[in-house]
Amino acid sequence: MLIQKWNVQKKGDIDMASYQLEVKQQNKKLILKTVYQLEPISRADLAKVLSLTKATVSNLVDELVQEHYLEQVGLGKSSGGRRPLMLKINEKAGYTISVDIGVNYIRSILTDLKGGIMKKAVETTDTNVYEDTMRYIETMVNNLINDMDDAPFGLVGIGFGVPGLVDSDGTVISTPNLDWQESDIRKRFEAAFDVHVIVENEANAGAFGEKSFGEGISSDHFIYISGGIGIGVGLIFDGVLYRGRNGFTGELGHTIIQMDGLTCSCGKKGCWERYASELYILKEYEKLKGMPWHQLTLEEAVTEAAADEDVRAIFHRAARHFAIGLTNIINSFNPEKIIVGNRLTQAEQYMLPVIEEVIAETAISPIAKGVGIHFNNTDQLATVLGLSAFSIERFFDREFST
Ligand SMILES: [Zn+2]
Repeated sequence: MLIQKWNVQKKGDIDMASYQLEVKQQNKKLILKTVYQLEPISRADLAKVLSLTKATVSNLVDELVQEHYLEQVGLGKSSGGRRPLMLKINEKAGYTISVDIGVNYIRSILTDLKGGIMKKAVETTDTNVYEDTMRYIETMVNNLINDMDDAPFGLVGIGFGVPGLVDSDGTVISTPNLDWQESDIRKRFEAAFDVHVIVENEANAGAFGEKSFGEGISSDHFIYISGGIGIGVGLIFDGVLYRGRNGFTGELGHTIIQMDGLTCSCGKKGCWERYASELYILKEYEKLKGMPWHQLTLEEAVTEAAADEDVRAIFHRAARHFAIGLTNIINSFNPEKIIVGNRLTQAEQYMLPVIEEVIAETAISPIAKGVGIHFNNTDQLATVLGLSAFSIERFFDREFST
């Protein structure tokens, strides 16, 4: 009887210990998340925001500082007594690398744990052969790793943005605009660099980038449009990225705006992206220039548009088509704003005025009223920043899981 009783107590002790550890880990994660959003912040304010006792917060903060997650910076304003020590994320304690694999470019960044960009690189590419692309990226990643200073956590993750269907596990299912017959990105880079790897649809990553670090920070209902050779769409609903059943949301580039229209890379006809993307512009530009479209660039077309009415007319046509797609999106989802990112942002001056005009005519007025259309052309970094935000979020989740 005695032994049995002892066993029961022992089991209870263990359960209580693991419960306490779980609570502690959860509280540490909560503190980190709160500092991340509100830094610099004092221990007293943290306790208030989180409804925890000052003693609990102080103990956990001390641990987090010792473990390199947080650091103490300067003194804040006093509310009567001593001026409090302020806390911030120790963003230089680790790095992320993110790679946006476009159809005709590869863009990569090295960031700290707050998404601060330490280094960036962008190259135009003329091959979509999987092996060539992978080898090219491996060199890029190695170069970025060589630029890292010593840091307690080192490289916490590599993220890849891919233009295509990517399931919730990071498996690439299809890439209509690339010549990929296979894809083992995640396994390949995990094995080669011994680091956590995430693979995401590039437009979903772009939407998350705008939500985490960009023009969507203060908006809970916005749509991110990635305009490149194809068009990808990321949906932020109620403040979070909407992924659908398998992670396949956002293929709105393949909604049909022209019945029996031009053949799209997906094999269907009349898709929105075939009429409103960089590909449409280049194929129309090809007719003007008498050169194959893949030897022409959007940059050239944008430059020429300043002095050439015919080139401007191409952008205006693309913009009208772009606006029809946006009208369908606005009528469907009732967003606060639309953020346009990626390559097409270079054509803002020729496209945006036309887009706004057409939307005013075609979208349902009460839904379209007040919807801002923003071209975010700050280096077209939304996708890579979103990938970094995913890597950072998963790093903290891993560190504080029980
Ligand atoms: Zn299509």
